[in-house]
Amino acid sequence: MEKVVIIGTGCAGLTAAVYTARANLSPLVLTGSMPGGLLTTTSIVENFPGFPEGVDGYELMTRMQQQAEKFGARVKFGTVEAVKLSSSPFELTVDGEAVQAQTIIIASGASHRHLGLESERQLEKKGVTYCATCDGALPMFRNQPVVVVGGGDSACEEALYLTRFASVVYLVHRRDQLRASKIMAERTLASPKIKPVWDSVVTDILDVRQDKVTAVKLKNVKSNAESELACAGVFIAIGHVPNTQLFQGVITMDENGYIIPQRGSATNVPGVFVAGDCADHVYRQAITAAGMGCMAAIDAERYLAALNQ
Ligand code: NAP
Repeated sequence: MEKVVIIGTGCAGLTAAVYTARANLSPLVLTGSMPGGLLTTTSIVENFPGFPEGVDGYELMTRMQQQAEKFGARVKFGTVEAVKLSSSPFELTVDGEAVQAQTIIIASGASHRHLGLESERQLEKKGVTYCATCDGALPMFRNQPVVVVGGGDSACEEALYLTRFASVVYLVHRRDQLRASKIMAERTLASPKIKPVWDSVVTDILDVRQDKVTAVKLKNVKSNAESELACAGVFIAIGHVPNTQLFQGVITMDENGYIIPQRGSATNVPGVFVAGDCADHVYRQAITAAGMGCMAAIDAERYLAALNQ
């Protein structure tokens, strides 16, 4: 039986892994379908303390994993398919195999939010993408106009990154003001290659019949005017949804599916703790996720100490 199973290997999960490993709990850390979490899809992280020159997101996560493994964490590629939390020890089904655990730390993060258009689904990976760092350099986007949807830090980051490859980057936002932090917004609007398209939403992505992206249909939300904008790619950066479906009905969460922590990192189920983006729709930073991972590890350690007294 495992003392600690950590679900997720983003900043929260791997920080929890470092701490529980250093407490000699030999945690089993399950990667899910995105090892390293969302930060691995970022280019330079400029606001993680300790890196004045910035650090590549993938490198940061790789180093966190190495640090956890150095102290005895066991990182395993695997997806949790089911959980039974009604009695102790808890039981997880991981890729068909049963795993028993005395404590669980949920650090399952969040996934990209979709626009919800049928054409978006049909053209995914054929010009529609959720990650400029992953796909921006593909030949199909080189020297072509592209569209970024969103007005937050992610959209700005995507747009700035894409200026390296695209001929022009249209930043389509549903309001006339960016939500992004001041520094990112200023940098974005100062770029001669980025053209903001304010007060507009994407109502369709063309052209499903050609099996590639050729344009987006736009609607101005103030005037209701409709237009078409030619582009070779659509980069969607409109926020995230928490990866908590597995725990629905068992772990207390808000109406958007974010787990509600009680007393530090505890959940409504004693022995199950939570950390990171799956429980945070307010701060959602690498450093806050790491901090929550640390809290969850300490709470799990104290819970186990009390259990085994
Ligand atoms: P976000 O801050 O929630 O922004 C999402 C953006 O998408 C908003 O501008 C929102 O519009 C728009 N949006 C949401 N749903 C939409 C829809 N259905 N259709 C059209 N537009 C829609 O998300 P984020 O940019 O991914 O950032 C998440 C967190 O990570 C933030 O705390 C951010 O600071 C952080 N982050 C930081 C950095 C950095 O510091 N370098 C980089 C990336 C992310 P409204 O503005 O109208 O709501």
